[in-house]
Amino acid sequence: MIEKLIFATGNKDKVREIKEILGAYCKNIVTMKEEGVDIDIEETGSSFEENALIKARAVWKKTGHLVMSDDSGLEIDYLNKEPGIYSSRYMGEDTSYHEKNKNLIDRLRGVPDEKRTARFVCAVAAIFPDGSEKVVRGVMEGRIGYEEIGENGFGYDPIFILPKYGKTTAELSPEIKNSQSHRGKALRAMEAEIEKYADSYGK
Ligand code: IMP
Repeated sequence: MIEKLIFATGNKDKVREIKEILGAYCKNIVTMKEEGVDIDIEETGSSFEENALIKARAVWKKTGHLVMSDDSGLEIDYLNKEPGIYSSRYMGEDTSYHEKNKNLIDRLRGVPDEKRTARFVCAVAAIFPDGSEKVVRGVMEGRIGYEEIGENGFGYDPIFILPKYGKTTAELSPEIKNSQSHRGKALRAMEAEIEKYADSYGK
């Protein structure tokens, strides 16, 4: 069992998902703030993977602990993969997701179903106490709807339709979303690495 894993985020929704998936290997999963690391990390990378590593490295430098981070976003094919790595900054950090979602739907006005393809992408990075690094990616394919539907989830969930369920990810229960989601897939891909680490170094 690993004593502690620090997750480089302030987002409680993400930490909840991480606890559900990696809780079996780690006694304490804490946010960087809970660990007393209160730094602003600029996401200057040009890919989800680079940004995830930038965040994890910054916290690892301060703590030397096992650190994980993620970087995620929505790629809409018709919009040349916008908003992509700028998903949270799209139209400004302070703009509501209702506004962002409405804007994306407007930009897709008249675009038929088959050209509304999109995906959520998530890169998860881990840095181990010895400084070694690992990055994995998870993807969830879907398409953009014509209106916001559903109350669950967050961000772009109300406009992202998962074809397998014919519903937006904001209509799915957290359990079903986790089982299908980009973040769930990336975290499960990281599970094997964390398990290996727990076997060798954990107490
Ligand atoms: P990050 O915190 O830099 O990884 O930003 C992620 C951005 O992508 C945020 O704007 C989220 O709204 C969006 N995003 C990532 N994952 C999801 C998801 O599962 N549902 C809805 N929006 C998501």
